[in-house]
Amino acid sequence: MIKLNNISKYYPAGFGKTYVLRNINLEVKEGEFVSIMGPSGSGKSTLLHILGLLEEASEGEYIFMDTLVQKLKEKRRTELHRNAIGFVFQAYHLIDELTVYENIETPLLYKGISGSERKSKVADILDRFNIVAKKDLFPSQLSGGQQQLVGVARALVTDPKVIFADEPTGNLHSEQAEDIMNVFKELNQKDGVTIIQVTHSEKNAEYGNRIIRLKDGWLD
Ligand code: ADP
Ligand code: ADP
Repeated sequence: MIKLNNISKYYPAGFGKTYVLRNINLEVKEGEFVSIMGPSGSGKSTLLHILGLLEEASEGEYIFMDTLVQKLKEKRRTELHRNAIGFVFQAYHLIDELTVYENIETPLLYKGISGSERKSKVADILDRFNIVAKKDLFPSQLSGGQQQLVGVARALVTDPKVIFADEPTGNLHSEQAEDIMNVFKELNQKDGVTIIQVTHSEKNAEYGNRIIRLKDGWLD
């Protein structure tokens, strides 16, 4: 499903370049639950953003679902991102002015899904995550754990093949963190969704079936 061949990422620095990722080779098969670990600044977020089609690599080859990513025009890349990928962020990234319902509905609007289908998909997710009673509340009226649950619901509503999560429990208490990790585990095991998360926590990493470690932009 995912294959990186010699991927590097650098930023211009004076007359030279500063490498953030160097010669990354990585394969992730459908149905895996992978945790990316490593110290601050080791390139974890950059790698996740490249994998999730949010950023482009500087060098190397990225093949995502049989598609050579570098060859894609911006528009096709956005389309692929919308159709196949869900993203969950540490700070939730919910839209404050929209209700829980509207936040979850947003990716379906971008995809041009019809009103009746949107209604049924949002209703299914609200029901599955037990947040029907919260649907008309705004993010500021929810606890952190509930906001992240909405973040996961929003990532999931488009039926993505892969969910990328960047420190999804970084802002949560341990109890809420466990709830979110159990949601990921269930999505992976019951629904077969491939999951790739960045985490600082060995405990969170153990919910997955594989850990990869980064150090100074290299795979350890
Ligand atoms: P991690 O997620 O492991 O903390 P990041 O991927 O966020 O690491 O960052 C890796 C390195 O890349 C850091 O040293 C950071 O300062 C650098 N970096 C990230 N974005 C940019 C940028 N736009 N320009 C220059 N350096 C950057
Ligand atoms: P958690 O167990 O996830 O930490 P909290 O103890 O933070 O939950 O919140 C418990 C209940 O209080 C939740 O049902 C939540 O909807 C409600 N709640 C939390 N913060 C607010 C708020 N600012 N306004 C209204 N309701 C809130």
